[in-house]
Amino acid sequence: MFDAHAHLDVPPPSGRPEGVGGWVVPGVDAGRDANTLQLSGSDPRLYAAAGLHPWYLPPDECLGEELASLQARVDAGGIVAIGETGLDKGRRAGPRNVQRMAFRAQLEMASRAGLPLILHVVRSHGACLEEVGRFDGQLSGMVHDFQGPIEMITPWLAAGFMLSISPRALGKEEVIRSIPARSLLLETDDEGWQQLPRLCEALAGIRGVEVGELARQTDLNARALFGLSFDS
Ligand SMILES: [Zn+2]
Repeated sequence: MFDAHAHLDVPPPSGRPEGVGGWVVPGVDAGRDANTLQLSGSDPRLYAAAGLHPWYLPPDECLGEELASLQARVDAGGIVAIGETGLDKGRRAGPRNVQRMAFRAQLEMASRAGLPLILHVVRSHGACLEEVGRFDGQLSGMVHDFQGPIEMITPWLAAGFMLSISPRALGKEEVIRSIPARSLLLETDDEGWQQLPRLCEALAGIRGVEVGELARQTDLNARALFGLSFDS
């Protein structure tokens, strides 16, 4: 099993705890990304991303500086994706214009670096797809914690993105059944990495497939998306 999106501050116990063989740790801001990079540098099961999360954006006048710092993290290498980034209409996110600027800049960085994106999309699917669409199909990545609406599955797949399910989406059974197996990812986000086996089991039940098959397929999907080896 592979956890495509887990906010880890410390590495999980050694080996394959609970049958989980790898984690992508998303970027949040400069401080947390530095910690993540340090962890991933000493633990081959952890893969770091770098990004500016829409909840933790700086004020308008400091955005340029934060983006320059992010570009430096990208240029330094050692990351497998850019994000999490995106647009969020909830009240925890920053002003809409700052979100847009940060999002556009990160899409450009991903396009230049040839890295996949980790998207955070809350009540903003249309707006995010519009921004992604400016890149003429050059981008790829995942929409993390996807919970629907179901009509957005096809447009996201057409844009080159996989859809990642967290324990929060477990009530959305029709959404879970409608994502093609090759575009499905599993994640625990900030719910605790120990949740992954239960999530995998629940999804397998909802989709009517063997747990082992779902575990294998989602592991393959994550490793293909992030360009990771298949032997670890
Ligand atoms: Zn997250």
